[in-house]
Amino acid sequence: MNKNSSNIMALGPNTPNKRETVCIFGTGDFGRALGHKLIQSGYPVVYGSRSTQISNLIPKDAEVLGHAEAAQKAAIIIIAVQRQHYNFLTPLAEVLRGKVLVDISNNLKLNQYPESNAEYLSQLLPGSKVVKAFNTVSAWALQSGTLDASRQVFVCGDDVEAKQMVMNIVRALGLTPLDKGSLLAAQEIENYPLQLFPMWKFPIFLSFGLAAFFFLYCLALDVIYTYIYENNNFSFFIAITIPNRVCPVMALILFALVYLPGIFAAIIQLYRGTKYRRFPDWLDKWMLCRKQLGLVALAFASLHVVFTLVTPLRAFASWRTSKGIVSQALNNKTEPLDHTNAWLSDSYLALGILGYFLFVLLGITSLPSVSNNVNWREFRFVQSKLGYLALILCTAHTLVYGGKWFLSPSAYKWYLPDIYILSLIVPCALLVVKFVLIFPCVDKPLTQIRQGWERNPKYSE
Ligand code: NAP
Repeated sequence: MNKNSSNIMALGPNTPNKRETVCIFGTGDFGRALGHKLIQSGYPVVYGSRSTQISNLIPKDAEVLGHAEAAQKAAIIIIAVQRQHYNFLTPLAEVLRGKVLVDISNNLKLNQYPESNAEYLSQLLPGSKVVKAFNTVSAWALQSGTLDASRQVFVCGDDVEAKQMVMNIVRALGLTPLDKGSLLAAQEIENYPLQLFPMWKFPIFLSFGLAAFFFLYCLALDVIYTYIYENNNFSFFIAITIPNRVCPVMALILFALVYLPGIFAAIIQLYRGTKYRRFPDWLDKWMLCRKQLGLVALAFASLHVVFTLVTPLRAFASWRTSKGIVSQALNNKTEPLDHTNAWLSDSYLALGILGYFLFVLLGITSLPSVSNNVNWREFRFVQSKLGYLALILCTAHTLVYGGKWFLSPSAYKWYLPDIYILSLIVPCALLVVKFVLIFPCVDKPLTQIRQGWERNPKYSE
């Protein structure tokens, strides 16, 4: 009986289920979208606006008042106004004293002002408790309902209680608050929506630069050279042949560049005899974008697979096959199967298939949804051991493909090596150094250094 009555009590109208009123300054896009969402979540909303006229864009259950009047109705005030208009708040300092002000503003440029907008607001109104939040959520996402619970909202502020109040609202809206600490973090949070794929810049620029270089290199050797010296017009090579040369070369070089910084790091640590000194900046940055380099390499490898699969469909390929058959018929001579060539061609295809398979596996394990489900050792096993195996297979694929003709003089048009030879320089050098590094006499001190041993300890006991 008692149990039932307590249930009835919990559902009754007088329970403290009612949410506190939230005030929003500004009836612009974000103010309206957030107001809608707050009302849906059960919060009474009052707008503080320069105009108290109700427009049909404003959520119908919300009140619209002057700024001072609206501020008096709530403990939390969300400032949905651009930073350049913040001085309208100064005359309201007394009304806003002790209130929680939520700064949601963004800027147009990275580090546009010397201090963050939230710190500026806090300087304008030292009597209020400023919390930064919601700036990474768009008005469109709020309104269209495309937000989900995995959507994080960065929150920071100096007053722990005020921050908690804002985080409770974030949770009530079905979002996940992420406490980023004090208001000092506001600058970083404000810069966050302005960043454009920061980790992808180096891999993308490098890939474009290298791909353009190799494309022009092939154009010179495969099209212009043959036109000048052999009087053959192979300009159609631009569509498939040259891209199918550039893609594997790019894939192999970028793949090697994923592992090269690790080799540099090992050499530096061995040379210094400690791991407690920072790597040079360029190496740190390079290490941080290894995943992106690997994914770009995988994209080039996938394009190479597609280009290779369409090769038999090409007019040039069927012309060359029929030319061979006709010449055999005219000469009344069939060419016996060259077993060495058959072995080489089957081997390089098999190496390519296996290398690509492992490469795809590496790409899949780098996805956060997969990498979060394996432990550190498993992740390292795939990315390091299987990664090196994939690199060895892909390098061997290129070496076997080139086989004998890398050494033939016809491979050196204008005394320049073929791009396949160029593509082998970095991976081969890397694999040789890696081979040296796994010798016990080198590996043992390196492992000790990585476990904290120092050749010349700075702080000896
Ligand atoms: P908005 O559409 O331009 O609205 C800003 C509102 O500020 C206006 O509707 C106006 O409201 C008020 N206002 C304009 N000039 C004013 C002045 N001189 N004095 C006092 N109030 C003034 O901008 P918004 O897109 O809603 O953005 C508002 C804030 O949210 C900005 O700081 C923005 O960086 C941030 N934000 C926006 C988004 C987004 O997707 N839009 C996402 C994240 C963060 P009243 O006419 O009612 O006074």
